[in-house]
Amino acid sequence: MKNIKKNKHKMPEQPPKQRIKNFNEVPLGYDKKTAIAEAKRCLQCKNKPCIKGCPVEIDIPGFIKQIAQGNFGKAAEIIKNKNNIPAISGRVCPYENQCEGRCTLKKIGEPVAIGRLERFIADYEHKKGKKTPKKAAPTGKKIAVVGSGPAGLTCAGDLAKMGHQVTIFEALHAPGGVLMYGIPEFRLPKKIVETEVEYIKKLGVEIKYDIIVGQTITVEELQQQYDAVFIGTGAGLPRWLNIPGENLDGVYSANEFLTRVNMMKAYKFPEYDTPIKIGETVATFGAGNVAMDCARTALRLGAKKSYIIYRRTEKEMPARQEEIQHALEEGIIFKLLMTPKRFIGDEKGRLKQVECIKMKLGEPDSSGRRKPIPIPNSEEKINIDTAIIAIGQNPNPLIPKTMKKLKTGEKGNIITDENGKTSIPGLYAGGDIATGAATVILAMGAGKKAAKAIDKYVKTKK
Ligand code: FAD
Ligand code: SF4
Ligand code: SF4
Repeated sequence: MKNIKKNKHKMPEQPPKQRIKNFNEVPLGYDKKTAIAEAKRCLQCKNKPCIKGCPVEIDIPGFIKQIAQGNFGKAAEIIKNKNNIPAISGRVCPYENQCEGRCTLKKIGEPVAIGRLERFIADYEHKKGKKTPKKAAPTGKKIAVVGSGPAGLTCAGDLAKMGHQVTIFEALHAPGGVLMYGIPEFRLPKKIVETEVEYIKKLGVEIKYDIIVGQTITVEELQQQYDAVFIGTGAGLPRWLNIPGENLDGVYSANEFLTRVNMMKAYKFPEYDTPIKIGETVATFGAGNVAMDCARTALRLGAKKSYIIYRRTEKEMPARQEEIQHALEEGIIFKLLMTPKRFIGDEKGRLKQVECIKMKLGEPDSSGRRKPIPIPNSEEKINIDTAIIAIGQNPNPLIPKTMKKLKTGEKGNIITDENGKTSIPGLYAGGDIATGAATVILAMGAGKKAAKAIDKYVKTKK
């Protein structure tokens, strides 16, 4: 391993001072020369540990070898064997804990930049124009997919490739789920999501919008019309702090804040009017990817100060390291070891302040992280105009609530086996609705497994 470059090749980025004034993507991607040089760092390990870290088991050394030889089209084919939406996973996958987390090169320095290489190939293919893969002969079987997030899109794409007729039912007027209304433009351009959805449609998948399954039509009705049904309705139910003042004007859930910005195109200011008045000081509570997205979005909407308020320390933050780094570079102010006690409003019911209490860390709790303990008499009031609660989401409750025979877990998640089979025959589920809020690639992996199981089910069904 003597002559291998120890660190990843850097990816160019918009400088922080420039990027906080726009919603354009922050990392700019590798060029051909850098991608080839990075691919040449790969040792082509015989035991391929990186593949074990990828939930959809992409042949990572295989596609990297093709990049190293300049065969970008072949590299794209290898990725697409396992992953229908690589331009998305190459951007938002927590690869540091997955494929790259297992890379042998970590023993001497940084892993191969697998995520960046995957993104490079997906973007290269986008520029060239994507080829639609061959489909199996039509089977005559009809499948309904509920929800067009990564779980639903992946499941639908795979089933269409197997020759089934697939219809997606989506509650909103646009496809993509969190990819579209949650993750901001500066991390995942909407054009990328739209292109990936177009690809799924080219496979023959039909998407019906503005249909809330469980309300507009029931799952039972879908089961009568289709040979099998897959539920991928995600985890969009916000968790609240349950403290006084949470209903004041100016307090948002992360979900509402990001949906307004992404769906109502506040990020396209001044072309579109911003539908959110955030004022000068914004506080986001929580420290996961969602919280970083909110705090960074607030800055781009014109906030002079954007705080992250978190009850533990940076070490315990659940957000990806890259997102924390980007937030710090952009001037997000981290107020750590602090938790809110109450929101305080003015006489018109408009948010004015948050009262927080300082914390210290005790022994590890059930999550394995050290438990935060309040320090008596350490309260502090902070002037804020907007508060965003980003402390997690629970599974969407509508379908589980309307189906009494469907087995659900403590948090309202649909219980499935490892292939997405629920307690009701012919009904499958996967992604955040089954696991609780997780990741894009896990949702895609669940969609893939369910597609295989559904294919088997409908072929044997009389
Ligand atoms: P979703 O993406 O939630 O899609 C569910 C779809 O179902 C939606 O389109 C919804 O409108 C539709 N739906 C819901 N109910 C119904 C109904 N009754 N009828 C019809 N349609 C319905 N993960 C990462 O890996 N990396 C990241 O960087 C990352 N950042 C994130 C940032 C934010 C702001 C958020 C909110 C999440 C982030 N995640 C990230 C998590 C990731 O986006 C989710 O785990 C993933 O999108 C789950 O996919 P899904 O298909 O299960 O559900
Ligand atoms: Fe790594 Fe995610 Fe790509 Fe798999 S899909 S190779 S985990 S970046
Ligand atoms: Fe290449 Fe790293 Fe995978 Fe080895 S573990 S094959 S070096 S990407």
